[in-house]
Amino acid sequence: MLIQNVTVIGAGTMGNGIAHVFAQAGFKVTLVDVQQTQLDKALQTISKNLDRQVTKGIITEEQKTQTYNRLCTSTSIENGVSIADIVVEAATENIDLKLKIFAEIDAAAPAAAILASNTSSISITKIAAATKRPDKVIGMHFMNPVPVMKLVEIINGYATDANITNTIVELSKQLGKVPCVVNDYPGFIANKILMPMINEAIYSLYEGIAGVESIDTIMKLGMAHPMGPLQLADFIGLDVCLSILNVLYTGYGNTKYAPCPLLVNMVTAGKLGVKSGEGFYVYAAGSKDLVVSNRFKA
Ligand code: NAD
Repeated sequence: MLIQNVTVIGAGTMGNGIAHVFAQAGFKVTLVDVQQTQLDKALQTISKNLDRQVTKGIITEEQKTQTYNRLCTSTSIENGVSIADIVVEAATENIDLKLKIFAEIDAAAPAAAILASNTSSISITKIAAATKRPDKVIGMHFMNPVPVMKLVEIINGYATDANITNTIVELSKQLGKVPCVVNDYPGFIANKILMPMINEAIYSLYEGIAGVESIDTIMKLGMAHPMGPLQLADFIGLDVCLSILNVLYTGYGNTKYAPCPLLVNMVTAGKLGVKSGEGFYVYAAGSKDLVVSNRFKA
């Protein structure tokens, strides 16, 4: 199947990155969001990230302009998906919202269009059931930051057609990514393995086995992880980590996924990590230093 027109729904952290990589690979991209301010912000971010690629010599000034000119925006799903060959949904992680968005996309997109979701944890089979084309619905799980991270975790829903999976594998390669195909079970693979590690790091802190810096340094230097699990949790968002752990806990019915009470407390108190300015570390605007939150200082 020939893919030329791509529509990305949701212009937040992931949506702008997904639009960026598709446009850079030569696709015409329509970025859709309910908020015009998010669309404006996304275009600014893409422009800034393209500038960085020019400075680093990854692309030329001319390629930057060509990439940017392949992007357009819309605040209407109906208009935004009308000529799409593929729609990649990257809206807020909320099941009711995603079911509503997929029903809307299904009604307005061409019958042959593939409908993909970038969800971190919501069942692709459930999302597919909100449409009349479950065989054409698939998970396309990019990693953050999208222009930098090589992996695309591709999730087959229960009804996903093998030809659709093959198309998405080839498409991911065209974007310069490395695709890995998995089946639709809670947390897929990436988060089924990552989140218990993050939860265990939080439990280690909660139980007083070690402090924030020791836990992160042990995992960085001992396991060659580029970032410790507590810093990574701050980066992902502690609310997001909690919600994925709850998906794993309810989905598998196994207490090994039960979120640590410290994580629950931090989210309740609004300490969500980088996005709220404080989690296990504090994040001052413009500062690159990693400073442990007073709450966890020895
Ligand atoms: P975000 O909050 O940064 O952005 C979500 C965007 O969706 C917002 O701009 C919001 O205005 C928009 N939106 C909400 N309702 C909409 C609607 N009805 N129509 C169109 N747009 C709508 O969220 P994010 O971090 O970019 O996450 C998006 C998706 O990607 C989620 O499913 C998340 O689980 C997944 N994901 C996130 C990460 C990450 O590290 N942030 C990594 C992988 C996958």
